[in-house]
Amino acid sequence: MIWKSPVAMVSTGLLTVAFVGVAMSAIRSHGATPAKSGVQRTGLRSGTASTARSTSFFHQAGFKTRALEHPLDPQLEPGDNLVPEKYRPTVMLKAREEFEQERGYRFNKIVRGSKEKKLIALTFDDGPHGEYTVQLLDVLKQTHTPATFFLVGKQVDKYPGLVQLEVMQGHELGNHTYDHVDLTQIPPELIGFELDECDKAIKRAVGVSPRFFRPPGGDYDVNVIREATRRSYVTSLWTDDPGDYAKPGADVVLQRTLDRLENGAIILLHDGIPETVSILPALIAESRKRGYEFVTISQLAKQR
Ligand SMILES: [Zn+2]
Repeated sequence: MIWKSPVAMVSTGLLTVAFVGVAMSAIRSHGATPAKSGVQRTGLRSGTASTARSTSFFHQAGFKTRALEHPLDPQLEPGDNLVPEKYRPTVMLKAREEFEQERGYRFNKIVRGSKEKKLIALTFDDGPHGEYTVQLLDVLKQTHTPATFFLVGKQVDKYPGLVQLEVMQGHELGNHTYDHVDLTQIPPELIGFELDECDKAIKRAVGVSPRFFRPPGGDYDVNVIREATRRSYVTSLWTDDPGDYAKPGADVVLQRTLDRLENGAIILLHDGIPETVSILPALIAESRKRGYEFVTISQLAKQR
């Protein structure tokens, strides 16, 4: 059976779009290799479930990072090295954007879509989650809404079937590292491992590699940029973080999200939050009522 996944289809044409107008002189000056233009990652292996890794790369390497309890997922054990999300208001992202431009930190990045079109993107981080991802997928399927999932590699290894479901339902996948570590707090030589291990986990699950990458907590520095660029990733941030991970209440998350809806918005939500599942039907319905159309991150990138 010849069947190309949506991820494979979008990945082949994406680089020409996402790299338009992006100078990388600053990256090269730090020794990174320019992004390769070829994408050869289209082979889809059907039904290849992976063997779950019992320990993370960091545990295997004997490397100690901050042992933080993940605030979202009781299934994750202390010491799993997951960093908690933290709120980054849009004004902070804009300030960083200006700082990067001043310093010449130009790299392949999408922070928002076109301001001219009423296209918006739903993104869900940190999954797949054993309980809530399937509920999210049900809502998205019933409402014919595409989304982008930024996956944590170790979660992918736990629930490869959910990742296969995401692809089969037409959603896009992104790399959110293997261990969900703060990439600016680990030795630079391990940043690449985090990206590669997540990539491998996704490949084991669905046979394709994502083209977008989102650093945990939105934290990155020049080393992270260099490693992402070497692997031809487009770093994907957001315009709207309603803070669902802090559990301020379903009504608050819904209202914050609707208040910040704008053309080209990238909405940051999370897989493991019951309130997020509960507000999703209303969020989708109200957004459409206001004339917005939901697209994946790669579709949003094409419209820039
Ligand atoms: Zn995250």
